[in-house]
Amino acid sequence: MTKTVPIGSIKQNSSFGNLKSFEEDVAEARVLVIYTGGTIGMMRNNDDVLEPIADTLVKELRQYPNLHDKKYASKRFGDENNMTPLCLPSVQGETRRIIYSVIEYDPLLDSSNMSIKEWSQIAEDIKHSYEFFDGFVVLHGTDTLSYTASALSFMFENLGKTVIITGSQIPIFETRTDGKDNFTSSLIIAGNYSIPEVCVFFGTKLMRGNRTIKMSSNALDAFDSPNCPPLAKMGIKLNIDYRQIFRPYSVFKFTVHSVLDENVGILRLFPNITTATFKAFLKPPMKGIVLQSFGCGNIPSNRQDILDELSNANKLGIIVVNCTQCTEGSISKSYETGHVLYNLGVISGYDMTPEAALSKLAYVLGKDEWDFETKKRMLQTNLRGEMNTGKDNKLQEYDLIDAVARSLPSASPEQVEELGATLFPAMVNTAILENDINKVNNLKSYGADLSASNYDHRTSLHIACAEGNFEMVQYLLLQGVSVHKKDRFDRTALLEAISGNYHDIIRLLMKCGAHLTGSSRAVGEELCLAASKNSVARLESLRLAGADLSQEDISGRTALHLAALHNHIEVIEFLLDKNVNKTHLDMLKLSPLDYAIKADNEKVIEMLK
Ligand code: ASP
Repeated sequence: MTKTVPIGSIKQNSSFGNLKSFEEDVAEARVLVIYTGGTIGMMRNNDDVLEPIADTLVKELRQYPNLHDKKYASKRFGDENNMTPLCLPSVQGETRRIIYSVIEYDPLLDSSNMSIKEWSQIAEDIKHSYEFFDGFVVLHGTDTLSYTASALSFMFENLGKTVIITGSQIPIFETRTDGKDNFTSSLIIAGNYSIPEVCVFFGTKLMRGNRTIKMSSNALDAFDSPNCPPLAKMGIKLNIDYRQIFRPYSVFKFTVHSVLDENVGILRLFPNITTATFKAFLKPPMKGIVLQSFGCGNIPSNRQDILDELSNANKLGIIVVNCTQCTEGSISKSYETGHVLYNLGVISGYDMTPEAALSKLAYVLGKDEWDFETKKRMLQTNLRGEMNTGKDNKLQEYDLIDAVARSLPSASPEQVEELGATLFPAMVNTAILENDINKVNNLKSYGADLSASNYDHRTSLHIACAEGNFEMVQYLLLQGVSVHKKDRFDRTALLEAISGNYHDIIRLLMKCGAHLTGSSRAVGEELCLAASKNSVARLESLRLAGADLSQEDISGRTALHLAALHNHIEVIEFLLDKNVNKTHLDMLKLSPLDYAIKADNEKVIEMLK
């Protein structure tokens, strides 16, 4: 597939930051529109039949005042030509004005004619323009739109920007059309909101792409995501449900994996399906099958021939993913008729749509770097929010907020948000105590501030240090949580680590600029206390934290005085090894040796002489 030159010049970094426009005090956002075909851009030909006409969409868009603000565009970009970007008129309540450029594919396709090749093309185009735009809109035919959305969701790894696929039931330039609203809403969301997912906008809903199904061939509300609530709803105002957004939990950069394995298929069971049909389907080169079973995952368990074919497939290394034929609901293992499948190596597809399961298979099988077992494991892992395995911590955490919110008589979205602010610190602390970095990360991605402090002014870092959890401390430091925050009692995270004698953590905190606070006399007291308690570990903690081991306390005594008095040989060995001052005199002019003599500690006298 070739494509026409992008309309509008793309300059590196031109879409970064809040680029103030020349005249109004408004910020701009750059959106790339990829027009692949479909009803949305079609026109009526002379026979009054709808067809896609090349090089027409952009020319037409320029004539529509509510899709293109000519005045703004000419002031912004000078004389208009085919290459100048299009400008959406400002939208009341939105921060940024949308400036958009269009790539038109050649030929324009009915989506029924699309294949893996076109999915890869879209993925590659977004990859190459990724840094130049704030968000992406793909105009697509509706018939296979859910397949494309599902495939792209897997192909995009660590996606950090909003990608919205949309289309329409009636062309955008008809008098009565759903195309205009679908397109404008997609542009506004893609440019103004950070929803790092492949989404589908249709009707009034923004949905997770890999959860969508085309439900109707004629309704304007043609798409739904039966097993996943919408990410946002467009009413008079846009209502985003931030809790539903699936974010990449990694520190890797965005990449595209465009190698998909095409040896995959969907086999829908029906009563009396023949052995021959099964045989024909479950043989090489086939590598992965979505088996659409009955109800919550059942097959006729009295059909030994089918079971034998599935068992053969398993031996041949063909992966079979079990999905339900029902539009809504999930696979469960509760029936004997379904259970038999798992003994044959069939994988549960949980509540995945067939579209998502098929493209996930193609993606996973296309990952040469994964061995067979990893591929099977990944198929059962929720990679992009495509399924609910019942093991999702994030949802449980949010169910908690929802549950509390529901118990309020009539909680408004603002109240629920406030509630989150109250509950987040407690939830973050719980996740830290459970040593669950994933959970902390999930909470963070939903808006929890990891640097926030609790009633006692303690931060998450205080808690992780008190718990002695090195990985968690490292993670929090990488998230920018300050090492300098003091709690209500002036204790820093470093003091927590010292209290637990967590030497690795102390070293790490010191690398981040942590230091002992308070008077040096107070440090002297700590040292003397450690020496009198025979704690070499604590003395080492204090040393690692920068304490001078010869530091005196309020009475002029050093750790060595106390160790000599209490006959703590190991402590004395440790202190002498660190070259502390042996002759320091306390307020009574007594040295450590004097203490040993008075206490009659022979070995110590030997050591200090
Ligand atoms: N057949 C068209 C397509 O999928 C239908 C549409 O665009 O709505 O491309």
